[in-house]
Amino acid sequence: MVPMSNDAVIVGAGVIGCAVACELAREGWKVRLLDRQKPASEATWAAAGMLAPGPEGPGLEAIVPLGRRSLALFPGFVEGIEAASGMHVGFRRQGALVTFIGTAANHEQGEMLAELARFGMAGEPLTGEEARRREPRLNPEVAAAIWMADEAAVDNRALGRALSVAASRLGVELQAGVEVQSLILEGKRCRGVVAGGERLPAGHVVIAAGCYSAGIEHVPRYAPTSPARGQMVALDAGPELPGVVIRFHRGGHLAGYLVPREDGRLIAGSTLENAGFDKSQTPGGLRRILAAAVEMIPGLENAPIIETWSGLRPDTPDHLPILGPTDIEGLSIATGHHRNGILLAPITARLARQWMLGQPTDLPLEPFLPSRFARWAAH
Ligand SMILES: Cc1cc2nc3c(=O)[nH]c(=O)nc-3n(C[C@H](O)[C@H](O)[C@H](O)COP(=O)(O)OP(=O)(O)OC[C@H]3O[C@@H](n4cnc5c(N)ncnc54)[C@H](O)[C@@H]3O)c2cc1C
Repeated sequence: MVPMSNDAVIVGAGVIGCAVACELAREGWKVRLLDRQKPASEATWAAAGMLAPGPEGPGLEAIVPLGRRSLALFPGFVEGIEAASGMHVGFRRQGALVTFIGTAANHEQGEMLAELARFGMAGEPLTGEEARRREPRLNPEVAAAIWMADEAAVDNRALGRALSVAASRLGVELQAGVEVQSLILEGKRCRGVVAGGERLPAGHVVIAAGCYSAGIEHVPRYAPTSPARGQMVALDAGPELPGVVIRFHRGGHLAGYLVPREDGRLIAGSTLENAGFDKSQTPGGLRRILAAAVEMIPGLENAPIIETWSGLRPDTPDHLPILGPTDIEGLSIATGHHRNGILLAPITARLARQWMLGQPTDLPLEPFLPSRFARWAAH
């Protein structure tokens, strides 16, 4: 029998590529992690860092078990990364408050509780008054809320930096400034990648290039990713800094969220836009974010704006991640995590190790397999 090779090239050093690289390096694999920029400077840098596995709507049910499993893995994942890097990533299990304003507040609260119950998830219903007892800065007009005790948050920028340091310390050969253009395919076998005109051979290739994955030749068939822009604002909240993550629902939709950081910054988000690869911030986008922030906590009205930015979530045609091996031997995909890539990093790394070693996976890969798009194309 031909021994299985245990060397891999991973394309993309965001939270996903770095997490997979660390996982494989711990198994003794020889891993090369390539990024065309500084590691973790795309969506991973731009995110809010909420670790919220609750259901997000019709068609997205398959992510819930993935998110819950990943949240359960998060403390161990953080411990491993902090130990390997010697860096702190600001992981906080402080819970989250989901708030509702307006005449339909109680109805929306009931609907969300029913949806959570459908997935066996707990949320504690609160009146507006009870919510303000937990978070006194909340708008007096908040009429109903749900306390999500199990939720957590992480400083995603700190996590990205720590992951890339951890990867190097675990023996991963991390190369920045290397852009992959194509796969090297020989029939039904992937033999490596082409980067900057140079052929880089590898036993296994993992595509983790976020929303840019579909820009690599031969990849779109398996990972037809696209960018979904999210604009963000950081405020210096001072005494108005909430103690927990706050999400704000109005008219059945998520209108905004606030994520406090350990350093006193308050992250306010976000938009969800189809603007191609354009990372501009716009008056309309920032206005919506700021209006929602002030509606959640009126005392933020005069809080200094410290920073604005935007990032590109890796979206997919069905908004589900793309995880697993392909029909090309030696080619795997780990991308398309859309709004949940920070949350899903630990489970993605674990599943990638399991499928690459031919082990049974913790959760079924079926809803996430790259082959689903080829099937769609065939029909
Ligand atoms: C505004 C916003 C808010 C978000 N909030 C949250 C949140 O609260 N919680 C959550 O869980 N998720 C959140 N997300 C989603 C999360 O950020 C992403 O799902 C996650 O970061 C995706 O990670 P990734 O490693 O796949 O992609 P990325 O972080 O985008 O990394 C991809 C990497 O691949 C590199 N690359 C691309 N093409 C090539 C190439 N050809 N050759 C070499 N390298 C290449 C890029 O330079 C980049 O470093 C948010 C995203 C945004 C934009």
